[in-house]
Order: sequence, then C-alpha cells, then structure tokens
Amino acid sequence: MWEKIYQAIDSLYDEMVENRRYLHQHPELSFQEKETSAFIARKYEEWNIPYQKNVGGYGVVARLNGGKPGKTIALRADFDALPIQEENDVPYQSKVPGVMHACGHDGHTAALLGLARALLPFQDELPGTVVFLHQPAEEYAPGGAKPMIEDGALDGVDAVFGTHLWINAPVGVLQTARGAFMAGADRFEIVIKGKGGHGAIPHETKDAIVIGSQLVSKLQQIVSRRIDPLKTAVVSVGTFEAGQAFNIIADTAKITGTVRIFEPELQDFIIEEMEKIIKSVCLPFEAEYEFNYAKGYPPVINHPKEADIILTECKNVEGIVKTEEINPVMAGEDFSYYIMDRPGAYYFTGAQKEGHVYPHHHPKFDFDERALPLAAKTLLHAFRTYQERHMN
Ligand code: MN
Repeated sequence: MWEKIYQAIDSLYDEMVENRRYLHQHPELSFQEKETSAFIARKYEEWNIPYQKNVGGYGVVARLNGGKPGKTIALRADFDALPIQEENDVPYQSKVPGVMHACGHDGHTAALLGLARALLPFQDELPGTVVFLHQPAEEYAPGGAKPMIEDGALDGVDAVFGTHLWINAPVGVLQTARGAFMAGADRFEIVIKGKGGHGAIPHETKDAIVIGSQLVSKLQQIVSRRIDPLKTAVVSVGTFEAGQAFNIIADTAKITGTVRIFEPELQDFIIEEMEKIIKSVCLPFEAEYEFNYAKGYPPVINHPKEADIILTECKNVEGIVKTEEINPVMAGEDFSYYIMDRPGAYYFTGAQKEGHVYPHHHPKFDFDERALPLAAKTLLHAFRTYQERHMN
C-alpha cells in the first residue's frame, strides 16, 4: 500500500504545482489569510474529509481516520505570506502589490494538500489517523501555532511532524537535528531618556549618545562574560537612533535588537542581565530609560526519537539522496509550540533552484517545485515509521 501512495503523490505533481502557483499569486499577510484558509477548507470539503475551520484564527484542521488501528499523527503546513514586493518575472508572480510568498509557505500548503488527496483512496487500509494542520501566521509573533493548540488542534494527537522547504539545501536532501534545531528569537527596544543641550555645554546635559554607546558595548559582555561558553546565545543590536545636529547633544537614543537562544532558561537570565546593565549605565548620568523585551517564539527543540525517524528512515524514500544532521540554525519558527506539547520533529526539505539562489524572505526568493512531492512523501514516511515503531 505504501508504495502505491508514494506513487499517487508523484502522480499528483501537476496538481501540487498548480495549487502552489495559485497560492503564490494570491498571497495574504499573517492574521489576514481569509481567502487562503477558505481555499484550503474547500479542498477538504470537496474530498469529503472532515475538517474544522477557524481553529485559533484562520487555522484549518482536517482529520483522515484510517480503517486500521494506530496512532494519531499531526502534519503541519503554514500558509501566510510576507510584506515584500515580488521581483521575480514568472507567470505565477504575486498579484498582490507588496505581498509575496517569499518563504515557501505556498509550497508547504500545496504539499500537504497533495498528501491528503493522495491518501484518500487508501483510507480503509491506513493505520491510525492523519491530522492535517494548516496554520496561519507563522511569520509574525505571537504566531498562529499557539492559538491553534489552545483551540484544540492537538487533541488526541500522539506526535507532530512538519517540514520547511529550504533553498540552502539541494533537492533530494533532508536536514534536521536530534535536539536544538532552530533558535528562540526575541526582540528588544531600549530608549535612553537623557537631557539635550548645546554641544559646547556638556556638563548641563545627560548625553543620550554617550550613554547609549556605552550600553551597546556593555551588552556584548552578556554573551562573552556572563554565559557559559559551552552554551549558545546571541545578543545583537540592530539599530541605534539618536541626535539631530552636529552641535546639539542628543536627549534620547533608541536602540533595538534581537536575542537568540536554544535554551529557554537563558531567556530570563539575559533579560535580567540586560536590565542590570541598562540601569548601571544610566545611573551615573541620572538618565531615565524604557526597556521593552518582546519574547518571540521558543526554540525548536526536536525530540531525538522523532528526529531519528527523519534521519535514518526518510532517506529510503524514492527521490531522497541523503539526510544530514546539521548544526542548529539561528532562525526562529513557531513549530516549537507543537513539540513543546507533543513528541515530534521539524526538518528541512531541500528545494534549491539551480541558478537561482536568493535567500528566504528575499524579493526574488523562489524554490524548485520538484521538492513538493518529496515534502509530501517524507511527511508520509514519518507517519508510517512512527506507526510501525509504536505498534503494540
Ligand atoms: Mn518560513
């Protein structure tokens, strides 16, 4: 049966491409994906697969109950786009000015829909239940995963798998890690409130640029001097805005940046350290400050046994050349929430387009569509292997 399903997926290639290109032409921003959600729901309606819409927002959750006993496994695809003007000159170019599927989520959706379609004729022979998690709003924290879980998307689910099409790996390659795989990604904003004045009379001011520049250099000490060198963290300042003219001392400075971590315990430690440093830098100047720290997605920490399914079993899928265990990447993903709740793993499906390598979130981002059936087949293979490894 399994071989026949893999063949069915391959034979649906044109349909997957068609769906992907339709979605690519009609992108919607995070939390605004009304039409995309309706498009997905219509497919399940058409196929007579029971589904729920408006799960935690525009989420769609469909359930295909197999005729044989087994585990319930959720497979996730996100479907939001980005505020980017597309610069690809292709027939399927985005029709929405300033909005683009520049991360491949159109492909995730097309692959998962393709898998659902391919499984339909095999429902009676299938063990367990496949839960299709179509998630909105991955790109914008607080994200769509958390509200979907709160709305019951994982009820009765034993494990969760998901994949991201990845243009940093060639078609046929799968990448993942048996633990920390993607970083927790937070954002901070610090406003130094000093006192402005004449550049020639500094002693009557509280120079926000002098305070701010000390702050930027002292923030570097958190990672270099306060965190165990065997642990990993990033504290990066991205912007520093202050001042109006060469002979005026700035009264305020605004500093923004990002923090990346793989261990949730480090998050509160870094926040405390930052606050101590800000306070101590402002103190001698008697300057005030505002410190806003926005916690983003937690790190994606794969469960070793489920990641092992990807690394050791999915290389047997036709079309997969190799699987690689890689170092964690510093990008964030709200897939983390699913596997904080349930066992599971996230992995990259290589989708590099020959001669066209622009990074994710680039106006010329595009991927090789031959990766679509590979994403569908490897998700199914993870489902299958999980069933086989958990047969009682
Ligand atoms: Mn993405």
